Amino acid sequence: MNQNIIACGQKVYVGTRVVLWDEGFVCPNKRGRSTCSHHDTKLNDAPSRKNSAYKILKPQLAYEELIQCVHQFVLHYDACYSSLHCHQLMTESSFKGSHFYLDLDGTIYQTCDLYWKTNTAPADDRQGNERAVHVEMANLASEALARESEWLPSNQDKYQKKKGQWILDLPKDYRKELQVTGFKITPSRTHGERGYFSKKINGRVVRMWDFTEEQYQALIKLSIGINRLLPRVKLQVPFDKKSGKHPLDRLKNYSNFSGILGHAHVQQGENGVECKYDPGSAFNWPRLRKVFALHGKRKGT
Ligand SMILES: [Zn+2]
Repeated sequence: MNQNIIACGQKVYVGTRVVLWDEGFVCPNKRGRSTCSHHDTKLNDAPSRKNSAYKILKPQLAYEELIQCVHQFVLHYDACYSSLHCHQLMTESSFKGSHFYLDLDGTIYQTCDLYWKTNTAPADDRQGNERAVHVEMANLASEALARESEWLPSNQDKYQKKKGQWILDLPKDYRKELQVTGFKITPSRTHGERGYFSKKINGRVVRMWDFTEEQYQALIKLSIGINRLLPRVKLQVPFDKKSGKHPLDRLKNYSNFSGILGHAHVQQGENGVECKYDPGSAFNWPRLRKVFALHGKRKGT
């Protein structure tokens, strides 16, 4: 079972299951980063080509260059049933992709070498994909609420309380494709009686159930691995020292931030890009901050 992630052929052990592109999902729409020079520059623009066209020339030099270019790890919810569902949509698109998917059961999929650009989040300055690597985390977000679902309509909420526990009712076709058989999909934390969280992000109230505990544990390991592989991606999340809170809206200094942040932190909808809300109101930013602080201390001693 592979537990490494890869950039320019360099491997780093993350300590949790990672299904690589040669045995799982292949990013259908890779691009060359214009900030990197160790590939054929014709690969920088659409349309997508055959996988064999994406060659990294001089991988060691490419890696040294990549380390300088990439300083953000951007978190997304995929608004899908599972990573398989998310990948199906990426495959239907002519330009979209994501370096990583994080499935409900905590399985990480890496879809291409991190050298390549995936068009996951343009950010308000349209440079967001050049400086970042991305993860699409399986979560239905507002699609789970019957009254708010837009493209996955249903008569009842997709999470139901059974024997005191909120459970996602995943369609069989997706459930049977999870790596962990019989995995029970339940949120890591719940909010009161109603179960879902509700907070305003970039001007809109986002209502959603939390990610699974397995997703948080894998995401933390993945973040630490990315930091080791691409050290400009610091183990820090947006945090306002004055208020002691984690901002949820687009950051002022979003393009310079070096660390781990959400799609909503870089994109509120300027210059013709869409306004974004992910990874959403349920995401546990304080948990990441706490874990990274402990990790830093341990490393320092
Ligand atoms: Zn997103």
